[in-house]
Amino acid sequence: MAGVSYPYPYEAKVSQTLFDRASLVTPGGVNSPVRAFRAVGGTPRFMVSGTGPYLTDADGREYVDLVCSWGPMILGHAHPAVVEAIQAAVVRGTSFGTPGEGEVALAEEIVARIAPVEQVRLVSSGTEATMSAIRLARGFTGRAKIVKFAGCYHGHVDSLLAAAGSGLATFALPDTPGVTGAQAGDTIVLPYNDLEAVRAAFAAHPGEIACVITEAAPGNMGVVTPGEGFNQGLADLCRANGALYISDEVMTGFRTSRAGWYGVDGVTPDLMTFGKVMGGGFPAAAFGGRADVMGHLAPAGPVYQAGTLSGNPIATAAGLAQLRLLDEAAYEKVDVVSLQIQGLVTEALTKEGVAHRLQTASNMFSVFFTEDEVRNYDDAKKQEAFRFNGFFHSMLSQGVYLPPSAFESWFVSTSHDDKAIERIAAALPAAARAAAEATA
Ligand code: PLP
Repeated sequence: MAGVSYPYPYEAKVSQTLFDRASLVTPGGVNSPVRAFRAVGGTPRFMVSGTGPYLTDADGREYVDLVCSWGPMILGHAHPAVVEAIQAAVVRGTSFGTPGEGEVALAEEIVARIAPVEQVRLVSSGTEATMSAIRLARGFTGRAKIVKFAGCYHGHVDSLLAAAGSGLATFALPDTPGVTGAQAGDTIVLPYNDLEAVRAAFAAHPGEIACVITEAAPGNMGVVTPGEGFNQGLADLCRANGALYISDEVMTGFRTSRAGWYGVDGVTPDLMTFGKVMGGGFPAAAFGGRADVMGHLAPAGPVYQAGTLSGNPIATAAGLAQLRLLDEAAYEKVDVVSLQIQGLVTEALTKEGVAHRLQTASNMFSVFFTEDEVRNYDDAKKQEAFRFNGFFHSMLSQGVYLPPSAFESWFVSTSHDDKAIERIAAALPAAARAAAEATA
């Protein structure tokens, strides 16, 4: 790619050919921006298969996968029990446009795991879940304004694309064209981990704020752990001011524990959103919470929300199969793998004298190239992100696939075994050197 210097030359000929073809028919050659490698440069790898902790690209190179499809693949790729459930479902038909038992079973599983969720509505993406939850909060309270935090990403919902993280953090876009002033005008964006700012917002807009939405533990500006009492403070402030507290668990849900981040901090939201793990690699997501609030949704109530493929039988079969395998032992395994990899990363970077900091939310973690604590988006942007590119490409060239951005969480799975971890360990010293040698 013109203008991109590769510290580690290696070939990805078939991927490049596919990327060239894709770029002619798809904007930027990808269907979701961060996949394009813009932040790190080079040729995005087109993957053809995945097994356990490994991905294989179109050039036949194998990688240990530390992205896990951005979270969903918590059992690794093509887990036999999940594949079996999908195969059994697919031969029965792929979509009916009617209710089906799989949807009921998946909803029951979610309700059984997460106490604050009394009722749940299935949708097809995390974006749809947060968009619908916001609409419901506005419909329920009769208020227009919403509060979100800078660096938190809740999908590409118009009103939530203000100071969002993820791809937007990568590209440092403060906002996006196409979102009108009216759509963003009712969104109040506050610094993360700052309860005083939330208190001030409620004081400045009495009776106007429908909801506060937050990532339960943010992973989209890199991993930023909620400070002691922050989520509880949000819940309390919302309750005191007649607003709803929406905990976005699209990323953390069914990943950070059996009951997601709620299982870690026990703070009770009014509404919650889910995606990723609950779909088993298929497009399934959900929002749910208090029955009296959910009762305002059509057809039970007046707030409209719908979806042709909502509760799709293949997606629900895959999600249910995956959730049923996620017992305490599975989470223990994911936690252990995460700690092992964190330890290896710290060791390698320390050895090369690279200023860094690992931040965690249970088994989610990310590496910031700074020694200072990262408590919010401004802190995250202060890291020496330029060090990440050499680090990333070194790992890639040695067969380890990291998120292609310094502002993302790394994800592991139950399938990351000793062999996979050995490959990561072997790759890290050179990658740490590349990070040390990087210049801005
Ligand atoms: N909310 C959070 C916390 C997310 O991390 C994401 C996606 O990464 C979303 C919402 C949007 O989900 P989707 O990409 O399925 O639309």
